Formats: sequence, structure tokens, C-alpha cells
Amino acid sequence: MTVLDHDLNKKVTIRICPDHDAESPRSWDNFATMACWHRSYNLGDEGGQEYFFDVLHDALTAIMKHRRAASVREGYTAYDSELACPRCSHLGRYGGDNCATCEGWGVVPNPFYLDKEDPGQALAIYQEYEHLVPYEMRLIYLPLYLYDHSGITMSTGSFGCPWDSGQVGWIFVTYREVLESWTDWKRITPARAEKVGDYLRAEVEVYDLYLTGNVWGFEAYEHDEDEDPEDGVFLDSCWGFYGDPDEPNENGMAGHWPDEWLTADREVSWH
Ligand SMILES: [Zn+2]
Repeated sequence: MTVLDHDLNKKVTIRICPDHDAESPRSWDNFATMACWHRSYNLGDEGGQEYFFDVLHDALTAIMKHRRAASVREGYTAYDSELACPRCSHLGRYGGDNCATCEGWGVVPNPFYLDKEDPGQALAIYQEYEHLVPYEMRLIYLPLYLYDHSGITMSTGSFGCPWDSGQVGWIFVTYREVLESWTDWKRITPARAEKVGDYLRAEVEVYDLYLTGNVWGFEAYEHDEDEDPEDGVFLDSCWGFYGDPDEPNENGMAGHWPDEWLTADREVSWH
């Protein structure tokens, strides 16, 4: 490698530039799932919305297996807004206008109904019945807020500006997924849930670096003192470092540099 034949009359310059082809961290193999709804932006995980509803559907339908067993046996799930009237469907004895339970309609409202058009309603139903949800189907989740003003930025905390910001979804993980990752945990205590929350917040922070264009790469050149670096010899480049370009140890860039480069000139280009 060129670096090993380092010419003492030459210098190395590391040019740090924005990574315009950065990939979304949500295409990685992440621990949590981000489900987002936004009319203008495609945010969060591909398939996140479907997975959000799948998870809530399984949790609420699991409750229905006990609370509405006959309906579940007939194929009803949490996606059905109405269930067969328990009295009318029992041997037909209370059919028609005589049934006080359904007042002759034959169906009754499903209290566990999840409206797939309304994720806020769906989470509210989950919250209402969370104490009945089978343990491994429960969720640890945090809200996702977007601030949209000359660029977008995301956080798990509200931005406090009702005109330019609002909630766009959730980042979540199921207890089952948590227990599969921390195999020495049998239960999820409040302290452990808080630790999991820290992981969720960290995933949002990395995603926010992507949303705000805070992803970088470097190109290193060896060149004469008075020469433009790019007119010298190209040594190496690498892309896809998330975070402050002035902190190469924190964003991981320095890990790609040989020791000789630690004293090299560094230039941060913002375009
Ligand atoms: Zn009835």
C-alpha cells in the first residue's frame, strides 16, 4: 500500500465529504421496528406499518381467544369491527328481534377492534387491554415525532411546535424479540424496559443522522505541500460514517485510517 512507502517530502490530506448515497439505517438488520405514517415522506422501515398492525392484531386476537372464544372459533379476529352475537349464534335460540344483546342485528360491536386506517386508535386499544395481552406479545414502544422545516428531523421527544411538527408513528419491539436478544432475561423489569428504551432511542438517533444528511465519507490523498490534494496520489476512500465529521473517532472513520494518517491534514467539505 502507498502509505508504507510514505515519502517524507509529501503530505497526506484527508478530505471529508457528505455521503450523498448514504443508505437508510432502516435497511439494516435492526433490533426494533419503525412504523411511520406521513403523507409526503416515506419514513421508517419498509413493511413497518404492516408489522405494527400484525403485532397488535395477534395481541388483541389472543385476548379474544379467551374473551370471545366462540367468535374466534368462527374466524373472527381483531380486524372485525363486529362479532356474531353470542346469544343469536348459540343454537339460534335468541334469533331475530327477540335478542336483547344485539337488538335483532345478529352482530355486536367488537371491543378489541383494530382499525387499520387509524394507527392511533389501534395503539389506544392495545394500551387499554395491555394487561390482558400474553406476556411475549407485549410491546416496548416510543413515539416518533417529525419536525419538518427546511429539512426533516426525527426524535422520540416532541418538538413542541404544533405547526411544523407532529407524531408520525412509533418505534417498537415485542417482549419476545427482547427476550430473544437478552437470553439471560426471563422477565422484563421496569429497569430493563428502560434499557431497551435506550436502544430504541439510539436507533432513532442514527436514523436522524441519515434524515438530516449527517453521513460522511473520506478521500485521502498524498501530495506535495503546495499541491491541491486531488492532484496528488489517491490513497483510499470509504463512505457511510454516521455522525459529526469533526469527530472521526466517534463516527468510526478513524478506525479506517492507518496510524500515519492521524497527523494528516483534515478538510471537511460541506457539499
Ligand atoms: Zn343477538
